[in-house]
Amino acid sequence: MFIMSEDSQRTQGRDAQSSNIMAGKAVAESVRTTLGPRGMDKMLVDSSGEVVITNDGATILNEMDIEHPAAQMIVEVADSQEEEVGDGTTTAAVIAGNLLGEAEDLIEQDVHATTIVEGYHEASEIALEAISEQVSEEVVDDEVLKQVAESSMTGKGTGGLTAESLAETVVEAIRHVELEDGVARDNVTVHTQIGASSNATELVPGIVIDEEPAHDGMPSEVEDASLAVLDVELGVRTGEIDAEYSIDSIDQLNSAIDAEESEVRGYAETVAESGADVVFTTEDVDDRVASYLATEGVLVFEGIGDSDAKDIVSATGATRVGALDDLEEADFGQADRISAENYGDDDLAFVEGGAAAETVTVFVRGGTEHVVDELKRAIGDALDVVATALASGEVVPGAGATEIAIADKIREEAAGIEGRKQLAVNAFADALDIVPRTLAANTGRDPIDALVDLRSAHDSTGRAGLITSGEEVTIDDPFDYGVIDPADVKREAIESATEAATMIARIDDVIAAE
Ligand code: ADP
Ligand code: MG
Repeated sequence: MFIMSEDSQRTQGRDAQSSNIMAGKAVAESVRTTLGPRGMDKMLVDSSGEVVITNDGATILNEMDIEHPAAQMIVEVADSQEEEVGDGTTTAAVIAGNLLGEAEDLIEQDVHATTIVEGYHEASEIALEAISEQVSEEVVDDEVLKQVAESSMTGKGTGGLTAESLAETVVEAIRHVELEDGVARDNVTVHTQIGASSNATELVPGIVIDEEPAHDGMPSEVEDASLAVLDVELGVRTGEIDAEYSIDSIDQLNSAIDAEESEVRGYAETVAESGADVVFTTEDVDDRVASYLATEGVLVFEGIGDSDAKDIVSATGATRVGALDDLEEADFGQADRISAENYGDDDLAFVEGGAAAETVTVFVRGGTEHVVDELKRAIGDALDVVATALASGEVVPGAGATEIAIADKIREEAAGIEGRKQLAVNAFADALDIVPRTLAANTGRDPIDALVDLRSAHDSTGRAGLITSGEEVTIDDPFDYGVIDPADVKREAIESATEAATMIARIDDVIAAE
């Protein structure tokens, strides 16, 4: 009896398990070489020839266009890591892959999938306790936050000196959007502009949009600006001109032109008389209106995007106005400075300071498009980790030290766990070794030797990581070198990796429709 379409494909039992595990492992393996300060970058070329060069786990996995459903679950691990805490995507994917690898060995030794799942869950609970034990007792101040930012950026094409100043900019940005009970991370945006070295990256206390003045004769800078945000076309709407005019004489033509002229002048005068120094409108502005407003010293930006309009509103306290007759002073926003600046082929408008200057922009500079794109990702990660660390006030040692400590605690507690589950709990600890082992491999050290040295240093001091500083690689306390990660990044990595690995391991039947 057939209960499924003849075209559907079915894989069952061990075969299903091992093919899923293999796919998951393969995906995790593909990002392993990018982990840590000496991780390498990947160049991804899509079918249209678009090139992305990156070191970012989530970006790589998403660009890879993965189809296998189990492999796709590892991509989801990276995605949820990115979404929840913004960093640690490679770590999470690599741990998930290794949990699957260990599960495969256990299945071969006839340990049932349910036992593995139970053991993994128990081990992940121990891991979370171990992370809490690793949390630094020091107050998370600006110095610590800078170290957190720098740790997340090392190896991301930022270069040593630049990383330090970028870290400062990142911390300044997050401090700016700090609230009494958290961090308004969304109020920090990143704007990239090609053309200078990354050293020129700076914090703009406001927003940056890609727009130029509507007329050359307009001022390029207005201080203490009262600004209006309009959804109004400043001109005669094409098509609105009465098409049924039948013009029989020069007089009639002249009066038609006069009528249009006076309508246009009316718009210009209404705007000028409203007292607005700067106008942003999402619609078009007639050249004659623009030219009249230029002589009145009003700076106008036309055809701005809806999201830019929203940003300006939130940054300046303006109210969007849909009809010119409704425009009044109460709708104006305030800004300390609005300026139009030219960067090579690009024109930018800066809206700085102001009544509700909650928003800040990290204005990222870099030599080429690929450089600024990767810098944008690195700075995005740094902003996320600093926000995460500041919000919870909890940081742990990086450089593999936390993973070493977790594995150690799990092995200790595994001794008290009965039966085959003990094997699964120990396997979880072995899977975590992938982090220090990979950090070692990516610095050219022998992974086994490094692991042995790290464990013995951990046993004697309680905190040991494989620290890369400049050309040196040392085993020492990461806190002493400022290699620090937010505790929540580690927690999220453990949780999402465990979730995906146990879900994949439990599947023993794959039914795929054609
Ligand atoms: P992820 O996508 O997981 O964040 P990264 O490539 O950013 O991957 O690497 C993060 C790892 O690199 C973390 O374990 C972090 O502690 C470690 N790390 C950061 N800076 C250093 C350093 N100077 N020496 C050793 N490890 C470092
Ligand atoms: Mg990172």
